[in-house]
Amino acid sequence: MSKTAPERSVEAIDAPLSSPKPLLARWLSPPGPPAMRLYHSAGAAVMAVPGRYGVSYLLLGDGAIAVADCGSAADIEPILAALRWLERDPGEVHDVIPTHLHFDHMMGVDPLALRVGAAVTLGRVAWEHVNEGRRLRWPRRWRLLRAIPTWPMQGMPLFPAVDVRGGLGFGFPWAQNHFRAPLGPALEDGQSLPVLDGWTVIETPGHSDDAICLHHAEAGWLIAGDTLRNFLGGELNPLLTDAEDYRRTKRRLGELHVRLVFPGHGPTFALPGGVQGLATLPWWMP
Ligand SMILES: [Zn+2]
Repeated sequence: MSKTAPERSVEAIDAPLSSPKPLLARWLSPPGPPAMRLYHSAGAAVMAVPGRYGVSYLLLGDGAIAVADCGSAADIEPILAALRWLERDPGEVHDVIPTHLHFDHMMGVDPLALRVGAAVTLGRVAWEHVNEGRRLRWPRRWRLLRAIPTWPMQGMPLFPAVDVRGGLGFGFPWAQNHFRAPLGPALEDGQSLPVLDGWTVIETPGHSDDAICLHHAEAGWLIAGDTLRNFLGGELNPLLTDAEDYRRTKRRLGELHVRLVFPGHGPTFALPGGVQGLATLPWWMP
């Protein structure tokens, strides 16, 4: 068990569990693939569980757990293995929370929630999409082109049979996003997570209309979904649905105490200068 300290007050422990380390990701993405790792800091604990397309995060509280993102039904087993290693009961998972309704963050959300007996809990905008048919916009085509090089940077993951069978109704422009697991009440901007102390919901539209981040102010931690990513060392996401929304989101996140980012893609990264310090990538970069 190795220990490293990305920030002085943070303890990080590598879990002795296998996680994907695709060769392409090691070649093409300077920070490399994410690690299966447990982080502890002031009153907060998060376990990163790398998955098929992105990273799931287990937010660990006293007697309660929330899971942020589950991109693939194939990610359920590694999440259960992480819970076993943590000596936590899967029944403690109270909410499975997709940071936004894009397939690579949520094809495993419904089957995971059913498996552990949790609620699917959505941000207000995603909740209105699912319950009231609110339309969600998608990035325009030319912007989508920028996403293509990032697929090999994650190791070119293919869809496993479980996602082809059960996942295609989730997170695509045509998808109904019909959950079989019970839906929790909508998470409102600025509210605390229902059963986890210290975590606040922040609406962060821009990459998608329904994007949310989860912020732990005391620890300075941010579960970022696709609002921030780490293919190139930790960066703003150039794949946007609404650039003006994203500018506002960046300004808002810049006012928060954020020192460690848990991105939807790529390894966790330290941010000593906060979100304000992140540069915008030039147009020709992926
Ligand atoms: Zn996305």
